[in-house]
Amino acid sequence: MITLTGKKISEGIAIGKLSFYKRDIKEIKRIYVKDVEKEIQRFQRAREKAVAELRELCESSAREVGDANAAIFEMQQGILEEPMYIDRVCSLILEEKLNAEYIVQDTAGKLLKDPDFLKRGYNRGHEADVSDVSLRLIRILSRRFKDEMFMEEPFVLASRELYPSDTVQLDRNKVLGFVTMYGTINSHTAVLARTRGIPAVIGLGEVLKEEYAGKMIIVDGYEGKVYIEPDYTTLMKMKERRDAGFHQTKNLERLKGKENITQSGQKIDICANVGTREDIENVIRSDAGGIGLFRSEFLYMETGRRIPTEEQIFQVYKLAAESMGSNRVVIRLADLGGDKMAQCIDMGKQSNPAIGIRGMRLLFDKEEILLEQMRAILRASGYGNVCILLPMVVSLEEVEKAKGMLEKAKRSLKQSKVAFNENIPVGVMIETPAAVMISGELAREVDFFSIGTNDLSQFTLGMDRTNRKIEKYYNPYHPAILKMIRIVTNNVHLEGKHVSICGDLAADLSMTEFFIQIGIDELSVAPNQVLALRKKIRDIQ
Ligand code: PEP
Ligand code: MG
Repeated sequence: MITLTGKKISEGIAIGKLSFYKRDIKEIKRIYVKDVEKEIQRFQRAREKAVAELRELCESSAREVGDANAAIFEMQQGILEEPMYIDRVCSLILEEKLNAEYIVQDTAGKLLKDPDFLKRGYNRGHEADVSDVSLRLIRILSRRFKDEMFMEEPFVLASRELYPSDTVQLDRNKVLGFVTMYGTINSHTAVLARTRGIPAVIGLGEVLKEEYAGKMIIVDGYEGKVYIEPDYTTLMKMKERRDAGFHQTKNLERLKGKENITQSGQKIDICANVGTREDIENVIRSDAGGIGLFRSEFLYMETGRRIPTEEQIFQVYKLAAESMGSNRVVIRLADLGGDKMAQCIDMGKQSNPAIGIRGMRLLFDKEEILLEQMRAILRASGYGNVCILLPMVVSLEEVEKAKGMLEKAKRSLKQSKVAFNENIPVGVMIETPAAVMISGELAREVDFFSIGTNDLSQFTLGMDRTNRKIEKYYNPYHPAILKMIRIVTNNVHLEGKHVSICGDLAADLSMTEFFIQIGIDELSVAPNQVLALRKKIRDIQ
C-alpha cells in the first residue's frame, strides 16, 4: 500500500480504480504504421463510436434544450458519415502509412478548403464543427478523458492539474472522486468539487505517478489522504468512514423542513450555490431556501468551443426558477475570466487575468453575450422568483451601464411579446475593496448584495487565490476582511436592503456565530453543506 498526503478540498470517501486524465492532446505525434488495414479499422471503430456518442448527445439535448439545439450534433454526425470524409481519411492512411490520429487532425484543416466538400452544404461556419468532430475522434483514438467517461465502471480520476473547465464537465455518475498533483484550495476547481459533492484531494505532487493507473485507490477527502492499493485493514476502515459519512448525512436529514434559528430566536436564511443544470436537483434535495448564487459562467465552460445559445441557458434558468417555486433564485451574470476561462470566448492573453478582463468588464466588451444572458434571465423570471446579480462590480457607472443594458433586453422581449418580471430585483457582488468602500452609494442603486469572500480575500490581501506558493499566507479570517463584511452589512441595512454571503466563508462553521451577530441576512453554500450549517445555527445559544 502506498500512502500519499495532499490538500483536502471536498469531503467524502471515494473508492475505485484510478484513471489518468491527460488533457494535452495538442501534440499529436506523426507515427509510421506498418499495418495500414489495421489502422483503417481502428479509425472506423473510433468513427462508429463517435457517431454513437453524438447520437446519444443529440437525443439528450433534444430532450433537455429542444430540437433546434440538438441539430448541431446531428450535423456533426453527418460529417462523420460523409463518404467523402471517410474516403479521404482512409486513403490518406493507406497512402501515407501514418497513424489515424495524425491523419484525422490533418484532414480537418484541409477539408474546409476543399471546394468539393463545401459543395456538399458545409461552409466556413462549420469550421468549429469539423474541429469538434476531429477532436472527438482523436480523444477516442487515443483513449483519453471523454472516452473514459464512457467506461462501464465508475472511476477515480487523476491528473496533473484540473482546471475549472475540466471539472465542470466531469460526469458525476462516472467520477467517484479526483486527485491531482497540483492546484490550490481557493481555486474554482475546489469550489466546483464542493458544489458538486465530489470527494477530492489535490496537491499530491509528482509522487502521484501515471503507473498507478488501473490500480485500486481510496480518496479520503476528510483527511487529505490517498491510498494506492490499500491493505485490507485500511480498506475496511475507509469503508466504515464512508458509511459513517452517509450515516451523518442521514442524521442531518431530520433537520429538513426545520427553521434556521438559534436557541435565542435569531434567524438567518440558508440558500445554495449552483453552476450547472445537474446541481439544481441537489438544491431541491438539500432543503435550501433557494438558490443564493447561480454561477452562470460554468454554463459557458461546459460547452467547449461553442457558445451556448440564449435558448440553452434560458432552459437551465427556467428549470432553476420552476424548481424553487416561490424561493429566490439569484442568477449571476457570467463571471468569466481569472481562472474561469471558457474555450468559447476569446479573452486574449493577459499577464494577470485575475485582475484583467473579467466579470462585468468582459460582458460590456461582448455586448451580444451580455444581452442574450439578460434576456434568458428575464425570460426565466416569468417562471419563478428570479433576481439578477452583477459580478465583479467596482463602480456606480458599471451598475448604471448594466441597468441600461437590462432595459434594452427588456425592450427586445417586449417587442417579441415575451412575458417577464418588469421589476426583477438587481443586486451586486461585493468582491473588491472598491465595492466595499462605495457600498453605501451602491445600496441606494440596487436591491440586494452578495459578498463574495473568495475574491474579496484575494483582492484585499493582494494574493492570487490560485497561486500555491502563497497559499500559506492566504488568510480569509484577516481582520481587514471581517471588518469589510461588517461595513458592507451596516451600509446595506441602513438602506433597508438584503445582504448575503456566497463565498466559501459562508460554509465555515467557525464563522457562523459572527455572521449572525453582525446581522447577515443569508448564507449561500454548496448544496451538501446546507443541513450541517442549519445544525450549527440551531446549536447556537
Ligand atoms: C467569491 O468570490 O466569493 C464568489 C462567490 O465568486 P467566485 O468564487 O465564483 O469567484
Ligand atoms: Mg468571485
